[in-house]
Amino acid sequence: MEKDCLFCKIANEEIPTEFIYKNDNLVVFRDINPQAPVHLLIVPIRHIRSINDITQNDNDIISELISVAKEMAKKEGVDKSGYKIFFNVEKGGGQVIFHIHLHLIGGWEK
Ligand code: 5GP
Ligand code: ZN
Repeated sequence: MEKDCLFCKIANEEIPTEFIYKNDNLVVFRDINPQAPVHLLIVPIRHIRSINDITQNDNDIISELISVAKEMAKKEGVDKSGYKIFFNVEKGGGQVIFHIHLHLIGGWEK
């Protein structure tokens, strides 16, 4: 756990947050400032600073973030209508929280 990292604190339940889903490797919760009717963040519990820092050792967790996103899209009822999943990478890419997280947005039409 990285000191002073907001998403480490959320993932380790030091800051109370309602999880939509949780397992041993990741947590899913709603974005506090949603950019779409459905806006989820899929966040590994283990601290990884940015996509620029991933190595081959992270292949399993990156793949799990995507497969859980697929399940969450279904759970939220946006799988058929469609959605976007993306990482913001570094400041110029819009990254504000330096603990990787996959955004899932959708729900513009059902
Ligand atoms: P980034 O720009 O780093 O890719 O995305 C960070 C996201 O985290 C933003 O969409 C922002 O609204 C969200 N966020 C920031 N702080 C909190 C928080 O305390 N709780 C929740 N649920 N979302 C947060
Ligand atoms: Zn962290």
